[in-house]
Amino acid sequence: MSAIRHLILIEHDHKKIFPATLALIVAAQKITASIDLLLMGRNIQDIAQQAAKIAGIDSVISCDAPQYEYFLAEECAPVIVAMMADYSHFWCAGTSAGKNIAPRVAGLLGIGQVSNVVAVHGERSYTRAIYAGSVLVQIETPEQKQILTIVTTAFPVLASAAQSAIETSVKIIAKPPAALQNLSRFLHNKTTTSDRPELTAARIVVSGGRGLGSTENFALIESLAQVLGAAVGASRAAVDAGFVANDCQVGQTGKIIAPELYIAIGISGAIQHLAGMKDSKTIVAINKDPDAPIMQIADYAIVGDLFEIVPQLISLLKNKSA
Ligand code: FAD
Repeated sequence: MSAIRHLILIEHDHKKIFPATLALIVAAQKITASIDLLLMGRNIQDIAQQAAKIAGIDSVISCDAPQYEYFLAEECAPVIVAMMADYSHFWCAGTSAGKNIAPRVAGLLGIGQVSNVVAVHGERSYTRAIYAGSVLVQIETPEQKQILTIVTTAFPVLASAAQSAIETSVKIIAKPPAALQNLSRFLHNKTTTSDRPELTAARIVVSGGRGLGSTENFALIESLAQVLGAAVGASRAAVDAGFVANDCQVGQTGKIIAPELYIAIGISGAIQHLAGMKDSKTIVAINKDPDAPIMQIADYAIVGDLFEIVPQLISLLKNKSA
């Protein structure tokens, strides 16, 4: 392999960098080499300035053009493919954007991608999660260049103190856009607004499952989340039943999170659900079935009827904070 050089795709919402994508830097740092951050978007001068203050990187490459505004893989991939002449490793977060862009880059380069990396052992050696995270395999890839997506929760996010302690900024290199592809078009963005923390960034998550039984009952989850200042999550069964919006889904086909505290209420703990929350630091499960799989991985398993336990919990917490 030629000299090792890392190129890392950092995601943002055009106002701030997504902290979870900073875990990519921690992952790349396991292989000593220069690290360049790639920022794509429209009018991203401020974001590029923010990125230039991050510790431990060599430069920031800014691809600033209207076609990059929505991270369309069809537009983003060609410019990354051209850049890969100078890099050995391209790192993406296992987010919707990362899972869209990385395979297209790998496909255009004609090389295999390494997905769901949870540990880095060397320049070609990784541990990756397969079967919804229930099996971890250590692999050695023969590819000369590496296209990687990582499970961001498997790596610590760079401490914000490490970012602000840096006084000198790294160089920002402006990259001219690639030719317009016009293969896909952005139609609209429907976002949910909430005064509660965002699910993937929350320290505490209260999740509800089919055991809640109805949308009205799901309000119990919202109330508990409210008193704890937590985000609301859900199992796919609860989402499919229409109790809650699908952006709350946690699991293999939902969001993968690792909060400080995860409270699973009326959730059985199917393997696809565990894939999204098993790395949480402390897991509390409330379930009437002591043999439910979630009870096996819970740090605190409360056996009983959620309709008795949760209201008591809410009232205790309210009294405590009064
Ligand atoms: P159930 O399995 O029905 O469990 C309900 C639980 O509530 C039970 O344990 C029951 O004991 C308990 N309960 C009932 N009433 C009470 C009460 N009054 N008090 C206390 N406890 C009570 N699932 C996900 O969550 N996320 C995913 O991303 C996901 N992706 C999937 C991908 C694929 C390809 C497939 C095939 C499935 C996927 N699933 C996913 C679905 C998954 O297999 C389960 O069907 C789902 O997680 C079950 O949700 P649940 O635990 O809410 O429901």
